[in-house]
Amino acid sequence: MIVEQIWTGNSWRNFNYLIACRETGEALAVDPLDHEKCLNTAKDHGWEITQVVNTHEHHDHIAGNGPLIEATGAKLLAHQNARDSIPGMDVGLKPGDVIKVGHTVELETLDTPGHTMSHVCLLAHAGTPALFCGDTLFNAGAGNCHNGGHPNELYHTFATQLAGLPDETLVYPGHDYIANNLAFTLDREPDNARAEELLDQVEDQDPDRALVSTLALEKEINTFFRLHSPSVIARLREAFPDLPDEPDPKTVFLKLRELRNTW
Ligand SMILES: [Zn+2]
Ligand SMILES: [Zn+2]
Repeated sequence: MIVEQIWTGNSWRNFNYLIACRETGEALAVDPLDHEKCLNTAKDHGWEITQVVNTHEHHDHIAGNGPLIEATGAKLLAHQNARDSIPGMDVGLKPGDVIKVGHTVELETLDTPGHTMSHVCLLAHAGTPALFCGDTLFNAGAGNCHNGGHPNELYHTFATQLAGLPDETLVYPGHDYIANNLAFTLDREPDNARAEELLDQVEDQDPDRALVSTLALEKEINTFFRLHSPSVIARLREAFPDLPDEPDPKTVFLKLRELRNTW
């Protein structure tokens, strides 16, 4: 499997992706907002884009579908419940559905509600696992729930699906928010030395060559995976004095999400 992370350079800081089979040159585009960059990247590699997956229905993830599909004839796949909100869907994805790209790539559909209620992540198992996580999981952060989502479901997705993936899983999110998110982690957990070190490293990174994190790294630097950290809990109790000494992880997650909304 070959992955091209495509930096759009727009003000929303979207990442688009091409996932290609190295034997056949067939490629799948994830949320190809910058359709021109996606088409040019495919052309440079000699790839043929045959499928498009939208992780969810937000405009900045689907707005490139039309021109890209017009240019390639690719099929459009998205969550089965997104038919009313994503025009032109060919295939509705259910949890566990496997999407094949050429001979060598298989992507498992994860049903990951929270940011919206019809959001999928794609999990590649071959070789090093890789997760294409749209706006559910970001580097050092989690998606918001302002536009059709629910924090309870986002917690459930993190706890029951994302947290259990192998440590070496590569994380390919839908936006580059890493520096801002690390600053939030440090606001919540000022003694997180790994987050501080990473912030120094990525603050001035070229998003065309962005750091690709792993789930193991996220568990160290992403506050939404650090629900048992004593310093996260201590800081949270300063903001919410009614919290018990040992709040359950769901409460910690929801309070962190709430603080992040206004941070
Ligand atoms: Zn979104
Ligand atoms: Zn987005």
